[in-house]
Amino acid sequence: RIAASSGWQVSKQLGRGQYGTAYLVCWDEEKCGEERKDQYKNGDQAVAKVVGLEFLPEKEHNLAFQEVELMRALRHPHIVALKDHFLTEASLELIIVMEFCDSGDLRGEVKRRTQAKPIDLIPEARIMTWFVQMTLALNYMHQRHILHRDLKSSNVFLKSSTTEGDYDVRIGDFGISRVLEGTVDVAATVVGTPYYMSPEVCKAEPYGYKSDIWALGCVLYEMCMLKHAFESQSLLGLVYKIVSETYEPIPPQYSADLRTLLDDILEKSSSKRPSGQELISRPYVRRFDANGQ
Ligand code: ADP
Ligand code: MG
Repeated sequence: RIAASSGWQVSKQLGRGQYGTAYLVCWDEEKCGEERKDQYKNGDQAVAKVVGLEFLPEKEHNLAFQEVELMRALRHPHIVALKDHFLTEASLELIIVMEFCDSGDLRGEVKRRTQAKPIDLIPEARIMTWFVQMTLALNYMHQRHILHRDLKSSNVFLKSSTTEGDYDVRIGDFGISRVLEGTVDVAATVVGTPYYMSPEVCKAEPYGYKSDIWALGCVLYEMCMLKHAFESQSLLGLVYKIVSETYEPIPPQYSADLRTLLDDILEKSSSKRPSGQELISRPYVRRFDANGQ
């Protein structure tokens, strides 16, 4: 389905998400139009998301396209980079091509560790290194007035770092959900359980920067506990817990600094919750910033 002349050839389907299907693709210069010949290297791998635009009013197709264009200009070492984007010939689909992360995602890492016997907790230093990387990425985008809106462990990808046996994280799908709002038939979408939904969003208040920070706190909790901070069989039960209940304390082997950090981020009141900038200014957090000081 990806335009044959684009140069990106589908290797396999990776999965279906809320806004469309993700494919692993590979660049083949034989297959692309003359004007695109030298843009990528033969054999380059990437992920292509195919987003149907049939539910988006036609005058907004170009807007969505331009927003992705803006996103492409933004670069950060801990954000999955956008490489390419185009509309299919009939303009019914938007194809977004991004960097392929070959070491899985944080959700998979958490799952693997829960299945280990005894349960294989992530060391604090590693949790915090990943946390700093995510916070730097989030703060970079917030400074540019871009919200993530769908931060969750399955949107945090692992990539081998220069230190052997170690991994860096990269946040994927940044800003995409805003671009794509309205592309899905709301009535027909089966959205996953909204574990990362903030108390203010539960109360039908607008989504803001602090709602991304809440989701970041949920991911931090998940790294410590290897399970979600708030879980329930029903949506109503989940909303109740998010708004009114406290989460189970994290294991005793983690430091008081980490506990305090979590408590501050998972603060129910969005105005009392720290911003990305405040988080990276904390001494305990800065200690884990490889490039900081
Ligand atoms: P979801 O809503 O589950 O995040 P996506 O469309 O984002 O849905 O992703 C579908 C599948 O493709 C998931 O299994 C995800 O891990 C994988 N995937 C998405 N983006 C990338 C990427 N940049 N690199 C590697 N795998 C990816
Ligand atoms: Mg995703």
